[in-house]
Amino acid sequence: MIYIHIPFCKQKCSYCNFHFSTSLNFKDEMLAAMKKEIFLRKEELNSKNLQTLYFGGGTPSILSGDEIKSLIDEVLKYFSFSSDIEVTLEANPDDLDKKFLREISNSPINRLSIGTQSFFDADLRMMNRAHSSSEAESSIKRAQDSGYENISIDLIYGSPTSNFEIWKENLNKSIALEIPHISSYALTVEPKTVLEKWIENGKVSNPKEEELNKEFYYMIDFLKDHEFEHYEISNFAKKGFHSKHNSAYWKYKEYLGIGPSAHSYNGYDVRSWNIANNQQYIKKLNSMLLAKETEILSPKDQFNEMIMIGLRTTWGVDLRSLKEKFSEQVLETFEKDSILKLQEGILVKEDNHLKIPEKHWFMADGIASDLFQV
Ligand code: SF4
Repeated sequence: MIYIHIPFCKQKCSYCNFHFSTSLNFKDEMLAAMKKEIFLRKEELNSKNLQTLYFGGGTPSILSGDEIKSLIDEVLKYFSFSSDIEVTLEANPDDLDKKFLREISNSPINRLSIGTQSFFDADLRMMNRAHSSSEAESSIKRAQDSGYENISIDLIYGSPTSNFEIWKENLNKSIALEIPHISSYALTVEPKTVLEKWIENGKVSNPKEEELNKEFYYMIDFLKDHEFEHYEISNFAKKGFHSKHNSAYWKYKEYLGIGPSAHSYNGYDVRSWNIANNQQYIKKLNSMLLAKETEILSPKDQFNEMIMIGLRTTWGVDLRSLKEKFSEQVLETFEKDSILKLQEGILVKEDNHLKIPEKHWFMADGIASDLFQV
């Protein structure tokens, strides 16, 4: 699978600490550099037949349909697409006009992940999103009218401008719009964001743990009642609409990340990440040099990663692959650390998989870190 990071956005959302630039001055140079990176790294994946291609960001929909297609064409020079490939484009509602949708519907893109976040203007203003509540809704309808059925939307809960009733309404709207996949995240206060500053100077209040908890568990019950499967802490899908790309990440498959700040993984013990600086990325690639750093994952890192990722999913951690990969000593410590949690029901074993029951998922990261090798 290949991930392509488009490092541009129209404006900076108040909560965001991803890598992007709001200046499009070097967009053409960036696209040329990314094509060079695709060429230089074409041998890195074992499989030349792609199951998934994902455009994330930043804001991929800031590009024109032709620019996106030119990146796809570059990928197709060196890779083939499996017959059921999933090609996802992250798109912001304000970009999904008829012209753009017409352009991309003539491309292999068959899944849209729309950055809706909320259907309420007060939330969207606080988040400094570039779209309004009416665009949030109309963009989805336009995408559906242009033939896109496989649509995911992002929703954020716990916003200081929201409350439980507003959150319920956000979920109701998603159902009314017949969205088959929802990724939903608690508003997180990341370092060096505008939101962090606002909280420090008292302009807005910190999301309250109790409220987040209530909204999270309401969402689980509500979406289950509407035939969604909760397959990862933040992800819900109707039958047949699970994200193949993200599921492959959570199953430790190899992936290649193209573009500034993109990460790659060989499916075993090597991880790399590109420099999170557009100018330096372009400069390096102009000299046909890669702009990445590489890390060899120690057995401890690999173990901790498998625990962290696996326990956030409905299928859990595969105990057979733990046994195949790690030493008896590591497994003994792990078993000792899990005993109490198994007795308390915070962990369960099913079909050779270790899982956190859904009612404890809100604490999944803490439970996983208790099981880390140190
Ligand atoms: S559009 Fe996405 S990547 Fe860009 S600033 Fe907003 S949240 Fe961050």
